[in-house]
Order: sequence, then C-alpha cells, then structure tokens
Amino acid sequence: MSKELSRVLGQQREIIEHYLSEYPVKLGQMARDLGVDIKVASLGTGISGRIALEGGRYVIRVNRNEARERQRFTIGHELAHFLLHRHIIDSSPDGITDTVLYRSGAPERIEFEANRLAAELVMPMSLIERELRENFGGLVTEVTIEGLASLFEVSKAAMEIKLSTLIEA
Ligand SMILES: [Zn+2]
Repeated sequence: MSKELSRVLGQQREIIEHYLSEYPVKLGQMARDLGVDIKVASLGTGISGRIALEGGRYVIRVNRNEARERQRFTIGHELAHFLLHRHIIDSSPDGITDTVLYRSGAPERIEFEANRLAAELVMPMSLIERELRENFGGLVTEVTIEGLASLFEVSKAAMEIKLSTLIEA
C-alpha cells in the first residue's frame, strides 16, 4: 500500500479497498461512493482536470479532448486531491485546476502525493503483481507493459513507470 493510501482513514479507505480488488478499477463508481461527481467537460487547452466544490457537491471535471486512459489517470489524481488535500479545494472557490503536467500552483509535494495515490487507484500494486506473475511470467517486457496497460486501461507510459517502481522495490 502506498504511503498516501495509508493516510486515508475509515470508511473512505474501506470504499477504496473494495474497488481496488478488481481491474479495470471502476473509478466512476468509486468516486460516486466517495461522494464525488465526475463530468467530462470542455476545459481550456493545457488543462487536464479540475476538482471544486459546487453547490455542496465535489465535482471532478476531466478534459473531453484527452484520451480515455489519460482521463482515468486524471480522475485518480483529482480523487487523490479530494482524499488528501481537501482543505486546499475548500479554500478556493475554483478548487484545484491541474495542467497537463499535473501542476496546479500547489506545492510540488502536493502534486507528487496526488500522482502517487492516483497510480495506486488506477493500478493497484497487488493486482499488478499478481497479473505480472500469473500471466506474464514475472517478466517486464514491451509485451508485458502493453498487456497490463490494456488490462488496467491506462497509458503505456503510466504502466511503464508503475512497473519500474515495482522492480526498484
Ligand atoms: Zn494536482
């Protein structure tokens, strides 16, 4: 479990762990259970996502022009802000807006935490390890990266980074 996920407590953590037990992770349902709405929206060029409090509801907007795999990671990133950094969302009427580089004006540490938790939400480590062992002989090759990316509905780049952290661990 990532350090960030261990910071999420109580009922929220139970909801998340329920959804992290199968892939591709049902992010939309997970968000709904956590009390967050997701909308695919027209955002400005260079903006990947946003989370803000609107009329008492937390709403994530993802850029409709980006690839579905990319939108999934963005949802994970904004959900991570919701779980870890709600005080920042609540302190601005516009919430948090992330560029394509997942920068929002918040300190770098905040974005790093959100990316780490996002990676765990869309690519749960225990599932990746199991699939890697059972279906790819534990070997990380181009075929493994493509295969796992497609199973988890993430980009090849994201899966490659995830697998590299696994090997270093
Ligand atoms: Zn962010």
